Amino acid sequence: MSFRALFTDKGASGSVASRITELDEARLPEGNVLVGIDWAGFNYKDGMVLSGIGGLVRDYPHVGGVDFAGRVIESTDGRYHPGQAVVLTGWRVGEWHWGGFSTRARVNADWLVPLPREISTRSAMVLGTAGLTAMLAVNRLKSEGIKPGDGDILVTGAGGGVGSMAVLLLARLGYKVHAMTGRADLADDLRALGATEVVGREVLEPSSKKLLGTRWIGAVDSVGGAPLGEMLKQIHTGGCVAAVGLAAGDGWDASVIPFILRGITLAGIDSVMQPFEARMAAWDRLSTLFGFSVYERMVREVGLEDLVDVSRDILAGKIKGRVIVSPK
Ligand code: NDP
Repeated sequence: MSFRALFTDKGASGSVASRITELDEARLPEGNVLVGIDWAGFNYKDGMVLSGIGGLVRDYPHVGGVDFAGRVIESTDGRYHPGQAVVLTGWRVGEWHWGGFSTRARVNADWLVPLPREISTRSAMVLGTAGLTAMLAVNRLKSEGIKPGDGDILVTGAGGGVGSMAVLLLARLGYKVHAMTGRADLADDLRALGATEVVGREVLEPSSKKLLGTRWIGAVDSVGGAPLGEMLKQIHTGGCVAAVGLAAGDGWDASVIPFILRGITLAGIDSVMQPFEARMAAWDRLSTLFGFSVYERMVREVGLEDLVDVSRDILAGKIKGRVIVSPK
């Protein structure tokens, strides 16, 4: 049997290029489960891989795609049987191991999660890494004791994948959400997801002060960089910021002042190496909490041939919500 995939290779100049190729299944990497992929997701990290930045890929030629959902074709692992619906996110798949921009993937059974009955393979990729990460971030705010009614929650990068998912999940749990976006034209979409207020990026504009008046009890932050530093200065006493991403950079001019004067918490969220039980719990919660029909306005379907353009758009912060990929 052959499979069709978007192969990314590195040339002598060090630049990467991608093209769709059909290869024999024997070329797939080692693993104990062969999956027929229905849908892959497109994430910021995929944009980095297809653009050859960040040093995420170990070996070329490479097949990107950090998350996918489909059905088991063959398995030598007793936990999985042919026809079973599965989802994979993280574990460096799409970085160190060939990923989801393909009609087939051969992977380690430990990386898979059986899909809850309520979620189709398409819905699983509407959620994808972004949905799992948003759920983990929201869970972290809850475990830090932040309840609806304690104050407003800021979500940055709200027009992107993780941010838009976080807006919807927080709103469905009863939190008041301030959705921060650099794209004013997304205001109606973000309100439809449940944002109580849509704010511009100027709420986190640079200031030389070490503390500012407080505005939010918590935040889900997918942008990092200088805006994260400004956010920390505006978190109420005892509040928590779940740090997810780095769309605006990985560093800021840090001060301990907000931590020692207001007792705030900066909590890191890593969806990639989450253990199986935590993943199962998050997918189960998403299957009942997430509003798929409400979110559909944020979903765009593409094919393998569109991915190089999509990678440029995601790095430029131009993608609205989630892009899902049909590899057929
Ligand atoms: P998206 O590109 O979909 O979303 C990022 C959003 O950030 C953009 O849509 C834009 O939203 C905003 N943004 C972009 N550039 C800037 C900037 N310079 N300043 C302020 N805001 C900006 O990416 P994802 O949602 O897939 O991922 C978001 C981040 O989270 C990435 O850094 C990614 O690597 C990380 N991530 C981390 C995970 C983890 O396990 N920790 C898992 C998944 C993702 P708007 O236009 O609305 O302002």
